[in-house]
Amino acid sequence: MKVLRVVLLLCLMAAATGAMAQKTEDAKMNKFISALMKKMTLEEKLGQLNLPGAGDITTGQASNADIAGKIKEGKVGGLFNIKSVEKIRDVQRVAVEESRLKIPLLFGMDVIHGYQTVFPIPLGLSCSWDMALIEQSARIAAIEASADGINWTFSPMVDVSRDPRWGRMSEGNGEDPYIGAQIAKAMVKGYQGDDLTKNNTILACVKHFALYGAAEAGRDYNTTDMSRIRMYNEYFEPYKAAIDAGAGSVMTSFNEVDGIPASANKWLMTDVLRKQWGFNGMVVTDYTAINEMVDHGLGDLKTVSALALQAGVDMDMVGEGFLTTLKQSLEEKKVTQKQIDMACRRILEAKYKLGLFEDPYRYCDVQRSKTEILTDAHRKAARATAAQSFVLLKNNNVLPIKKSGTVALIGPLADATVNMTGTWSVAADFEKSVSVRAGLEKAVGNNAKILYAKGSNLTADSVLEANSTMFGKSLGRDRRSTEAILKEALAVANQSDVIVAALGESAEMSGESSSRTDIEIPQIQKDLLQALLKTGKPVVLVLFTGRPLALTWEEENVPAILNVWFGGSEAGDAIADVLFGDVNPSGKLTATFPRHLGQVPLFYNHKNTGRPIEEGKGFQKFRSNYLDVPNDPLYPFGFGLSYTTFNYSDVKLSKASFKPGETITASVTVTNSGSREGQEVVQLYIRDLVGSVTRPVKELKGFQKINLKAGESREVTFQISIDDLKFYNSDLKFVAEPGDFKLFIGTNSRDVKETAFTLTN
Ligand code: BGC
Repeated sequence: MKVLRVVLLLCLMAAATGAMAQKTEDAKMNKFISALMKKMTLEEKLGQLNLPGAGDITTGQASNADIAGKIKEGKVGGLFNIKSVEKIRDVQRVAVEESRLKIPLLFGMDVIHGYQTVFPIPLGLSCSWDMALIEQSARIAAIEASADGINWTFSPMVDVSRDPRWGRMSEGNGEDPYIGAQIAKAMVKGYQGDDLTKNNTILACVKHFALYGAAEAGRDYNTTDMSRIRMYNEYFEPYKAAIDAGAGSVMTSFNEVDGIPASANKWLMTDVLRKQWGFNGMVVTDYTAINEMVDHGLGDLKTVSALALQAGVDMDMVGEGFLTTLKQSLEEKKVTQKQIDMACRRILEAKYKLGLFEDPYRYCDVQRSKTEILTDAHRKAARATAAQSFVLLKNNNVLPIKKSGTVALIGPLADATVNMTGTWSVAADFEKSVSVRAGLEKAVGNNAKILYAKGSNLTADSVLEANSTMFGKSLGRDRRSTEAILKEALAVANQSDVIVAALGESAEMSGESSSRTDIEIPQIQKDLLQALLKTGKPVVLVLFTGRPLALTWEEENVPAILNVWFGGSEAGDAIADVLFGDVNPSGKLTATFPRHLGQVPLFYNHKNTGRPIEEGKGFQKFRSNYLDVPNDPLYPFGFGLSYTTFNYSDVKLSKASFKPGETITASVTVTNSGSREGQEVVQLYIRDLVGSVTRPVKELKGFQKINLKAGESREVTFQISIDDLKFYNSDLKFVAEPGDFKLFIGTNSRDVKETAFTLTN
């Protein structure tokens, strides 16, 4: 007891010393910035609020002229989409040598899932359920980006989304706020490390605040409308987790929230973000989001710019509404000097925290750019990570395949090097990615033959294909007739022992402004798949996609389906690792795969309704269901197979009831009942059976990824406290209500073992 007290005392003293040190640091920073701001003219202050794009990379609709001139005049606070350390060094030189106050610039970029070493798209990465691996991917991205001059990334994107029509599901972490929050923390930690002033840590920017993933009809940039209780319980958690983890910046979303576009939404940007969550970093708009409020119908540029500043926005990306109108708004008393000063101060603080005032060239070490980018070690990490992101959706004893005989590799994604990185890989050299063809050929060497044919184009519609293969990610449309392309593929297929069909979406079929109304594999590829199945050879579908697809026909007809998303630079090698069984797949879906688009939005943590259907029954009149398609998904949240099998014992609880301040332990024994070593993600779900407001039928509250040798068993335990039972009630208070709960542990959100407990007063 005594020892415990001493330890506690020491901890408290350490915390107090830490807090004091932070206070001294903050005081130093405030003094420095106050002194600097005293020297600044109004124009120079407004200049800090301006974030133009450099035009090296296209990520939006606008472009900016005469940037160097503006930097010299002090009219630029930061720059984004500029690539290469030499260029950045040069631009920084203009800022710190040729502008009056020599204030260094921020250099931002969309470093989303890796820099030049590209990791799987975020949706794929999330399916690894491996927070250490996810953090490592962000760490490597930060090392590479900072070695090339970047000190600020527009990531992590943590928008919860339940609508696979929305192309940006590929950039997020799926449908669940809990795992989304864990990933948000891991990413912020990976980018920012424990010391932002280091030359290989960069400022994170959590986006898109808020609710961007809930666009009506899954159409990008569309209206969002939801109750506040849903925002707090189902959408806010990942943003808040990123803030709690210390994310230094936040990006506003394009959509409206409660009738007011996010960039002018004071409730969101000030009351929620700063007052409730204690955020003290800087807020940047999304690309021209202020200007877009004119089209939203909030007034002219001067009006909407003033609204954005009043709401708590600090920096204006691309649109220059702040730069060009705030002076007049100040004169007209539409905004205050205090508001301008506050925004300017927050931007200067970000620069200070990055150590840029100490050394503006901190991130401009030309030598580092030569030795720390796309290294063998980084590529190796990307390969291992990609393999962890793949989800085995079906396997009728076809996988793994042998490295012998003849493999027919067919499909528009089979030899598609430049598509492997997926969407948002703006810094990547696409040509340096590994295609499936290259990966398989390398893996088999002389032991087997890999025969290749394209089999079909991406889509029958050439315009749709062009729009889906932008930004240099062409699939090289084959101009021959569909029949001729297919005939060639069938000739190859007929010579083989096994067919690997690499089909699905192209890289740019998901991502920004890439919404789809049809979430199936394009028909021309389905026709190819059907023809391949008719050969009678075993067929493995290697599925490329940036969103959940409706695969009902494929599930019924294809013996094996491996979903590989877009695996990044090393996709092809990682795919070979899994197809040949050198790596046992262990990815689990973080987004539900529906049977049919008509079920969308379909997510595991839905409400029960007053008329739920009885489990296992078909259509029930006057219950909540459809005439033509069952309610349940094709592949539920958390689903993913392995080359081995896992058995779960019944769940044991340490006690049947507990009260606030206590915890309860739930445990299961998981056994690897197959013949291979494998990893399993053990998932814990809870249902609050009675509440003052309706509660979801299941909520993920914990998970552990374990590795088990063939035949090995392990007891997996979870501690549950009232914090795991809390939710926002009608007054938006975060509470746990006493009562009965169900607890489930299992291999996915559907296949679970169930027990119950009570929370008493
Ligand atoms: C996207 C953001 C991105 C920004 C800068 C916008 O169009 O919505 O996610 O960070 O462009 O490229």
